[in-house]
Amino acid sequence: MHNFSIAIHGGAGTIVKQDMTPALEAEYTRALDAALTLGYQLLAAGNTAEAAVLAAVSSLEDHPLFNAGRGAVFTKTGGHELDAAIMLGHNLAAGAVAGVQHVANPVQLAAAIMHHSSHVMLSGQGALEFAINQGLVIKPGAYFFTQFRYDQWKAVRDTNTVALDHNLQGIESLLANKKFGTVGAVACDAQGNLAAATSTGGMTNKQFNRIGDSPIIGAGTYANNQTCAISCTGHGELFMKAVAAYDVSCLMEYKGLSLQDAMEQVVHHKLVAMGGEGGMIGADAQANISMQFNSAGMYRAMQHSNGQKTLAIYKEQL
Ligand code: ASP
Repeated sequence: MHNFSIAIHGGAGTIVKQDMTPALEAEYTRALDAALTLGYQLLAAGNTAEAAVLAAVSSLEDHPLFNAGRGAVFTKTGGHELDAAIMLGHNLAAGAVAGVQHVANPVQLAAAIMHHSSHVMLSGQGALEFAINQGLVIKPGAYFFTQFRYDQWKAVRDTNTVALDHNLQGIESLLANKKFGTVGAVACDAQGNLAAATSTGGMTNKQFNRIGDSPIIGAGTYANNQTCAISCTGHGELFMKAVAAYDVSCLMEYKGLSLQDAMEQVVHHKLVAMGGEGGMIGADAQANISMQFNSAGMYRAMQHSNGQKTLAIYKEQL
């Protein structure tokens, strides 16, 4: 049987141990491990990479610690606008949603758009209507409210800036232990098929209707069996300009780089030169996994059918 593997992330940014309490670290670890295990067990039972990334990302969306689904950050106008995407490596099928409200699991909406519409991306009201017609779980605004996100938003708003939600030095005392983010997963299944998915509330205090890199195919999310599956997290505007996820794929396709070398090139050279802080996780069709970031930390975990399993938050745990 072909090797299989999965990797997940829960956001990258200024995530440092001295800002973390043992209880919070334990909860992050528990939530990451639960999402990873869910996805891995699906792969081990012979399910597709698509099923694995959907399950892992949905689980992280349901957890209020992460900036996706429940627990998403606040926009400038005090709402929650959610972005998500999914892509399959064997046929380049893709689905994405931008700026949608009330949908509990935006990644499932992205998958529904991929499977049940003739479009790749829907936004706003049209996306919500499609979600309702598809029978997806719809929640009132209060479901997405978390007190710490609200406090975070107020603090950022008062400085009149837009912030990566885990990159909030200067507002530290209030926010010190509240650094967490966007979620994503990549997987290679036992058939050698790849999938990638990403979901986010975007950036704290973002302009309403701002769309980040996460739902943009090729920027924050990409999958192609010939090269790689990638899910990004970080300052979305820079990841869009770098076309970061697709750039990894291009380096592999046109320059023959390995997954690891291509991701290092994009994360540690190209994005750094542009000022693009963040990271990404990747898988190739041989089930190799790489997790790279140029920030202080990235919530991340991976499991491979060869028995390898890692879960880490800070840089020094690499
Ligand atoms: N990339 C996301 C965005 O810009 C934010 C993040 O990854 O934390 O919307």
